Amino acid sequence: AAKDGGRGRYHFYSNDLHAEAEARAQLEEDLRDAITKGDMELFYQPVVSMENEQITGFEALLRWQHPVKGWIPPDRFIGTAEDAGLITQLGEWALRTACMDLACMPPEVRVAVNVSPLQFSSPQLPAVVTQAIARAGIRPDQLELEITESVFLSDDEGTEAMFKALKRIGVRLALDDFGTGYSSLGYLKKAPFDKIKIDQSFVHGATQPGSRNGAIIASITSLAKALGMETTAEGVETMDELELVRRHGCSHVQGYIYERPLTKEATLARLKQGLQAEAKGPRSARAPR
Ligand code: C2E
Ligand code: MG
Ligand code: MG
Ligand code: MG
Repeated sequence: AAKDGGRGRYHFYSNDLHAEAEARAQLEEDLRDAITKGDMELFYQPVVSMENEQITGFEALLRWQHPVKGWIPPDRFIGTAEDAGLITQLGEWALRTACMDLACMPPEVRVAVNVSPLQFSSPQLPAVVTQAIARAGIRPDQLELEITESVFLSDDEGTEAMFKALKRIGVRLALDDFGTGYSSLGYLKKAPFDKIKIDQSFVHGATQPGSRNGAIIASITSLAKALGMETTAEGVETMDELELVRRHGCSHVQGYIYERPLTKEATLARLKQGLQAEAKGPRSARAPR
C-alpha cells in the first residue's frame, strides 16, 4: 500500500469515507423504519435500595431488534438518531411506552427514562411528559427522567425553565453518568435533582488496591446526602464492589450483581415474585461482558 503513494491513499480514504456515509444513511433509514415498525423495545433493569435490598424501580433501556443485523445496543444508534433528527421521536416513544408499562407495575415502583440533551431542549417535552403520564394513569412521581451533564453546556434560561417546568409536573429528575463530564458543583445548585447516578467507571476498579475511586464515591454520596439527594451506583457486578459502594454510602445500586436488563415480560414476571432482591455476583472476578 505504501508504494501507491499519496494518490492511491487518497482514493482509498475517499472510498472509505463514501462507504461510511452510505452505511450511515442506511442506518438512518433502518432506524426510521424501526420506530414505525415496532422493532424498538424497552428493557428494564432493577434499581435496588441499600436500606432493605428491595427493588425501588427500574431503568428503561432501549433495545433495537434489527431484522438483519440482529440486536443493536443503544450506544450504536443513539448518536445516529441524534444526528438524523430522530431522537425526539424515539425519546417520545420511550417515554410513552415506559409510562404504559409502569401502569402494569405495583404503584410503589418507579421507572427512569433516559432523556437525550436534544430532547431536553425541545419545548414540547413538558407537554409530552404530561400527556404520557395522563394517558397511562400513573402518578408523576413514578416517572424519573435521567439527564446528563451535557444539558448544561448550552447554559441558557431555556435549560432552567425546562427544569422548572418538569418539576412543576412532579416527575423526578436524576443526573446520569455523574463524574464523566464537567461535573461542576454548580449544576447541583442550579437543578433540582432527586438523584445522582455515579458512573460505572468509578465503580470499576474501585476495589483495586490504591484506587482513588472509593474516596470519590464517598465524597459524592456525602454531598448528595447533604443536598437531600439519593445516589445510585451504576454497573455494580461483584460482591466486593457491592460491599464497597454500600460502605461509601450509596443509597441505591444498579448492576449485573442483582439483574441484567430484562424484557418487559420478564420484568412483570419478576415483580410477581415480590420486590426483595438478592445479590448473586462473583466475589471478586468481574462478570464477563
Ligand atoms: P446509561 O443511561 O448510563 O445506562 C446504563 C448502562 O449500563 C446500560 O447500558 C446498562 O445495560 C449498563 N449496565 C447496567 N449494569 C451494568 C453492569 O453491572 N455492568 C456493565 N458492564 N454494564 C451495566 P445500555 O443499555 O447498553 O445503554 C447504554 C446507554 O444508552 C445508556 O447509558 C444511555 O445513555 C443510552 N440509552 C439507553 N436507552 C436510552 C433511551 O431510551 N434514550 C436515550 N436518549 N438514551 C438511551
Ligand atoms: Mg441512564
Ligand atoms: Mg448512566
Ligand atoms: Mg451512559
